[in-house]
Amino acid sequence: MVRIIKIKPEDNAAIPVEDVKQGEVLAGGLTALCSIPQGHKIALADLKPGDKIIRYGVSLGGLKTGVKAGGLISEQMLELPEASCLDRMPWGTQNSSVPPLDPSLPVFFDGYEAPGAFYAGTRNILGIMTGVQCVTGVLNVAVRKIREELLPQYPNVDGVTALNHAYGCGVAIHARESVIPIRTLKNILRNPNFGGEIMAVGLGCEKLTMDMLLEPEENNTDNVIILQEQNGFHAMIKAVMAMAERKLDRLNRRRRQRLPLERLCIGFQCGGSDAFSGITANPSAGYASDLLVSAGATVLFSEVTEVRDGAYLLAARCADRETAQKLAAEMNWYDRYLEAGGVDRSANPSPGNKKGGLANIIEKAMGSIAKSGTAPIVEVLSPGERPSRKGLIFAATPASDFVCGPLQMASGISLQVFMTGRGTPYGLEAVPVIKVSSRTAMKDVWYDLIDINAGSIAEGTESIEDVGRRIYNMIVETASGRHKPWAEEYGIFNDLCIFDPGPLT
Ligand code: CA
Repeated sequence: MVRIIKIKPEDNAAIPVEDVKQGEVLAGGLTALCSIPQGHKIALADLKPGDKIIRYGVSLGGLKTGVKAGGLISEQMLELPEASCLDRMPWGTQNSSVPPLDPSLPVFFDGYEAPGAFYAGTRNILGIMTGVQCVTGVLNVAVRKIREELLPQYPNVDGVTALNHAYGCGVAIHARESVIPIRTLKNILRNPNFGGEIMAVGLGCEKLTMDMLLEPEENNTDNVIILQEQNGFHAMIKAVMAMAERKLDRLNRRRRQRLPLERLCIGFQCGGSDAFSGITANPSAGYASDLLVSAGATVLFSEVTEVRDGAYLLAARCADRETAQKLAAEMNWYDRYLEAGGVDRSANPSPGNKKGGLANIIEKAMGSIAKSGTAPIVEVLSPGERPSRKGLIFAATPASDFVCGPLQMASGISLQVFMTGRGTPYGLEAVPVIKVSSRTAMKDVWYDLIDINAGSIAEGTESIEDVGRRIYNMIVETASGRHKPWAEEYGIFNDLCIFDPGPLT
């Protein structure tokens, strides 16, 4: 008999944990009126046109056509309601609290102190910032040589990465929104995994000048190489190698130290979500997030379009008025940003999301918010900003995986947890990424890409708390350098796609 999952008592739709055939009797006695794919919605009662479909205790929208109990509710049958109003959202009304830490869980990790950084690092990497895309070809050649010729001499350094991006020239550098990409790049170089070492390579005629990326005391020949000032290709490579050698020598002296978890900042995001993401992977990540906050750590969650429909739920958890107001301001900004492109939040669910059973952005948002657990929200960040508080923080970013990743890196994460239902081999070169699958079938197929399977929750063999503890423990082991997630093991990583809402010239 196929299990169906109903989340809140008031829900009038549920999802089967496996594919269901027409006429099959489901747990609870309901008979399927047609075949229903795994994760897609089945009506629990006779519903008529105009009735609201309730899941997670909220309305996903009104029905365009009626459906009998046991029938399939497809995305085409639902009318997407207007986005919830952002004005005067009540804040601090939900008395959020986090579960106490079980004494068996670790509260320390072995991390790297990073001068000038609010948090400690989990890896020891030389990061080389670029001023413009023009320099990446030369820098990539130099980085290959650094890996082959220099790195073996510095055994305490984990790697070297060229922080290549498509910003820097051909952009309207004084556009109102250029503050976002500039701040993002400036702060990425200050990620704790780079140990406070400043190294940047520019061309010499780009719009993004080094004084925009570096502090005045950093902007000198100890830290900056301008290719147009070099006498040919070989001189460029020689200059990069010589500077890298000096930086590697300092990084090589870094040592892991036992640090309290309050020195750790972790990013959470999801990608390739399905209907199970919101009932298995995301809630168990949310439980891990609550445990981390209990231990004093900082957890960032993001992805504006995936929380927009639950903004009022987040406002209710904001610790103060200022945080709630900034939350509304960031949501408003994103509404206008989408509007300028002639779309709205309904542009979010991908074909894969829909195939996985997510009918619309409200359903996706309710599942996505689950990864934030129940802790109070102590701060809201604009894209690429660095936190000033510790605890649970909403960092406003696009939901796009490879855009959210660099923005969270700029905000200071030294490890990311990534929940997926459909599967993506996503990774970041300088920040380890732990992948959590929402379904066992996903883990079975991608056994050597998925680090933790949360599908056991849907099958009833593990609880949300069990998987949450496994995520927590893997975070501490990974942060301490005792464990490598698959993406790090294989060196799978995405390009740094920098969020630039401004115009190109
Ligand atoms: Ca995402």
